[in-house]
Amino acid sequence: MKKTILLGLCLILFIMTGCGPTTTKQSRFLLNTVVEITVYGRKSEKLINELFQEMQYMENKYSRYIADSEIYNVNSNPGIPVPVSEDTFDLIQQGIYYATISDGLFDISIGPLVDLWAIGEQNPQIPLQSDIDLAKSRVDYRNISMDSQNHTISVAEGMSIDTGAIAKGFITDKLVYILQEGNADSALLNLGGNLYLYSSKPDGSLWTLGIRDPFGSQGDYLGTISVRDMSVVTSGIYERYFEVDQKRFHHILNPETGYPADNELASISIISPSSTKCDGLSTTCFLLGLDKGMELIEQLEDVETIMVTKDKKVYVSNGIKNGAIHFKLTNDEYTLINK
Ligand code: ADP
Ligand code: MG
Repeated sequence: MKKTILLGLCLILFIMTGCGPTTTKQSRFLLNTVVEITVYGRKSEKLINELFQEMQYMENKYSRYIADSEIYNVNSNPGIPVPVSEDTFDLIQQGIYYATISDGLFDISIGPLVDLWAIGEQNPQIPLQSDIDLAKSRVDYRNISMDSQNHTISVAEGMSIDTGAIAKGFITDKLVYILQEGNADSALLNLGGNLYLYSSKPDGSLWTLGIRDPFGSQGDYLGTISVRDMSVVTSGIYERYFEVDQKRFHHILNPETGYPADNELASISIISPSSTKCDGLSTTCFLLGLDKGMELIEQLEDVETIMVTKDKKVYVSNGIKNGAIHFKLTNDEYTLINK
């Protein structure tokens, strides 16, 4: 079952008018996840409608599961250069960037492996090795042809571009632009755990949010960070998975092995003003593992990370060590490594 259809619509809307600031909060099932948005300020209702409209519009272009989306059309016409809009072209180019900096561990053409594993769908199973080998042979971002002059994209036979690892971040950045243009006072965007904390809280203080305990249940945190005008995105082994003989198979797949990434990491959070960077890098660094992932983060501008290992150690990047981003470990089952 492809989850592109709006499976459920949960709409919470409350508007407070009068002397206090206006607040509008809505949550809907979109982008195959629950999206929850809160906007504070006079035009919050109008803005929030615009945000959801824009999100639906973008999903209709970027989702490979929606018939007639631009990505669907690229995937279903192998060998043919398919014209796409500028932003779709940009999204795939960003995906290719993360593939190049990770030597192909991040691969925007991961579709065949994602379909095979079907993690998050009903009755997932470990696929046959022969099927894994076949799917693996169809995953290679270097076989995507991008024509920047004509804005066309074409893929080779059997390939499938999958924007799942980066689209939520990319969409979030577009939403932030709408908030800026609309002069929103402050806002909180939550696209299935892909967060953006816009401006400060209405009272002028920083937003404080919990970093999920990857071994706890939903709502359990291992620590908190305080930020403003920042995106925070976490990738972890607890998001979508199934278990066989106590071994966990989760949804971030290593295109070299054809299996879920299996290293020391349990979760990784990326903090940056760019949500595209956060989303792209959370998946990329998860695949790279602790040392290479941390090395990459330290080379990049405006990006910080909190990496949590399976043995409950918490590693943070320099901008967190030096206090530029304030992180507090609150769960004593975990040890902060501050070397
Ligand atoms: P989520 O969006 O579920 O919070 P991620 O941002 O880490 O988590 O993205 C996971 C999704 O990315 C998968 O569901 C799949 O669609 C896609 N994906 C899985 N493995 C890879 C990979 N190696 N490279 C690029 N995309 C991947
Ligand atoms: Mg991601």
